[in-house]
Amino acid sequence: MEIHRLKLSGFKSFVEPAELRVEPGLTGVVGPNGCGKSNLLEAIRWVMGENSPKSMRSGGMDDVIFAGTETRPQRDFAEVILQGRDDDNEELEVTRRIERGAGSAYRVNGRDVRAKDVALTFADAATGAHSPALVSQGKIAQVISAKPTERRQMLEEAAGIAGLHVRRKDAESK
Ligand code: ATP
Ligand code: MG
Repeated sequence: MEIHRLKLSGFKSFVEPAELRVEPGLTGVVGPNGCGKSNLLEAIRWVMGENSPKSMRSGGMDDVIFAGTETRPQRDFAEVILQGRDDDNEELEVTRRIERGAGSAYRVNGRDVRAKDVALTFADAATGAHSPALVSQGKIAQVISAKPTERRQMLEEAAGIAGLHVRRKDAESK
């Protein structure tokens, strides 16, 4: 899986539509404190289906929507679009949009899909929201102090088998 472009609108501090092109060789994002580096990484996780408010540094999911400032009103929605290629080298466009009080909706290549479908797509490609390919602030310290079970989860994500657990749980609940 390759990520080529990220488009954000109303997501956290990215109130105006913004675009990040991901060129080969990009390994890090630098900039002054508070400029939105962590928010960018969180946008990638979020469009991949991340639903834990803690890993979004928020109280509830609506907190990812631009909250407003003294001079700008808050937004009613946030949208992140991830464009790239999947493992079969096919064009892939994943969109997640959240509206205040109304939850999230996902689209893959223009088609409405379930959150689960998006999570599985990325988990199978070993690039899911919890993938070790995304190294966020504080992550290195977390890996060092992780419990064996947590470390196992990281390895499973890296190996691309995390999606199997989701499918097993799903099958067991039927
Ligand atoms: P550092 O170098 O300190 O790690 P950073 O570049 O990672 O900084 P971020 O944490 O990505 O910065 O961005 C923080 C900024 O995003 C803060 O100014 C915060 O107010 C803003 N922010 C976060 N959520 C929202 C929101 N929902 N609405 C508006 N602004 C937000
Ligand atoms: Mg940061």
